[in-house]
Amino acid sequence: MSQLQSAQLSPVENKAIFEQNGLPPQFNLDQFINYQIASLQGLSAVQQAMAKAQKPFSGVSVNTLAATVNDVDLAKPLADFPAVLNELKSVYLDHAVYFHHPRYMAHLNCPVTYPAVVAEHIIGAINTSVDTWDQSAGATLIEQKLIDWSCEKAKLPSTADGVFTSGGTQSNLMAMLVAREVAVSRYAPNHEVKLQGLPEVASRFRIYCSEVAHFSIQKAAALLGLGYNAVVPVATNSKMQMDMDALNHAIADSKAKGDLPIAVVITAGTTDFGSIDPVEDIAKLAKKEQLWCHVDGAYGGGLLVSEHHRSALNGIEQVDSITIDYHKSFMQPVSCSAFLLSDKRHFSHITLYADYLNPLAEAGNGTPNLVDKSLQTTRRFDALKLWLTLRTMGEAPLGRAFDKVIGLARQTHIVLNDHPDFEVINYPELSALVFRFAPEELKHNSDLLDTLNLHVRQTFLNTGEAMIARTKINGRHYLKFTLLNAQCQLSDVRAVLEQISTIAWQTYKEQK
Ligand SMILES: *Cc1c(COP(=O)(O)O)cnc(C)c1O
Repeated sequence: MSQLQSAQLSPVENKAIFEQNGLPPQFNLDQFINYQIASLQGLSAVQQAMAKAQKPFSGVSVNTLAATVNDVDLAKPLADFPAVLNELKSVYLDHAVYFHHPRYMAHLNCPVTYPAVVAEHIIGAINTSVDTWDQSAGATLIEQKLIDWSCEKAKLPSTADGVFTSGGTQSNLMAMLVAREVAVSRYAPNHEVKLQGLPEVASRFRIYCSEVAHFSIQKAAALLGLGYNAVVPVATNSKMQMDMDALNHAIADSKAKGDLPIAVVITAGTTDFGSIDPVEDIAKLAKKEQLWCHVDGAYGGGLLVSEHHRSALNGIEQVDSITIDYHKSFMQPVSCSAFLLSDKRHFSHITLYADYLNPLAEAGNGTPNLVDKSLQTTRRFDALKLWLTLRTMGEAPLGRAFDKVIGLARQTHIVLNDHPDFEVINYPELSALVFRFAPEELKHNSDLLDTLNLHVRQTFLNTGEAMIARTKINGRHYLKFTLLNAQCQLSDVRAVLEQISTIAWQTYKEQK
């Protein structure tokens, strides 16, 4: 604290730290003390904001906040940095959504480790771009080592490789891109998509994923010129996992119509339910049917370091590609993700050479230019966050944290099952639960239940007391918890459930 307080300067001193002959305050060694002071002031603002955040969200309305942001005149800079931070409170910090708060239970956002937050500082200060060796050096090697570590955790063969990405959406796009290229080389062997665009036969390509897979698969198909309709949604079983019979039928159906099955996506942790498709069975079927087999482990990837639940991913070592979001189940700040390929030669489908950047001649001499494996060019050194986390504490605490929230979700499942006011949809394989307020005496009135559950969620959005998500099942409105905070206790969950009950019953009585 004393160091934070020493960052309290007089107005004159505060003004002086950013005055550099009218030029922007540059991050230089001779300006380091200024950076240090400004950093401590910034850190202090974060500390105050977090201390003030007694609930995960202030409940501010869009209109109110938009007016505050609109009032800022960008042409008129403020007097000094403390004033800037003070303004930041009103436009952002006071009304941010706080994922570290135990009553944040909405989406797949995690609290973060503090070595990773320190890494963010270092990433920005050095400002490495990991696209080519000559802009990166050691950062390239560190990223590569973490990729190798991730491949090892998945037990991929020694031919495996990967790259950090901006998120699961980009990783899934890369997987579908490679799948499309492999299919083109099979069905239109003399065709070069990079030069000629899509061959005609591509209109018959089909990709299979469960009906509750992430929408980024459809998005990828659209971006890749295959279209939404190329993605065949496969029915799920009662555990929200892809049903093997349904998958077999869907493939046979496509073939009968003259369509060409090219890929199957195994979701290891669906966004809504955390359900894990049968990895081993699908991988086996994919081999038999010569389909590209991709695991979307954006959510469930954290099981790779879990002590108790790693076996749920058994079979992952046999697949062709994997998506992992470290920013979901490894407690890393956004963005921090990876795309892994079992056979690194397939990265050739992504590589394009530019003379100024990564000339073809360098590819042969072993210069590690990560841009050869990436859709991005200039790219952040996001790997450093995971690096500092692992070097500070190793992987075990990350696995323990994930195991803990899975345990909490399973306890919550019991509570929901026993509670007369609630109906729960899924047994949580990971840490997501879909449920709704549906007491026996109101169950016959589906429209009323929709209204009440929607109202509950909106009330929380207005008060910020807790943040919960919503989803739709068979056209009906449900509520959702995604538990990723190992500090969240069963008592927090119980308290939120009681609040939900209270709000719903009150609304019901008012409506009558
Ligand atoms: C979150 C998620 C994605 C998308 O990942 P982003 O990091 O948000 O781009 C893809 N698949 C699944 C299963 C997810 O949960």
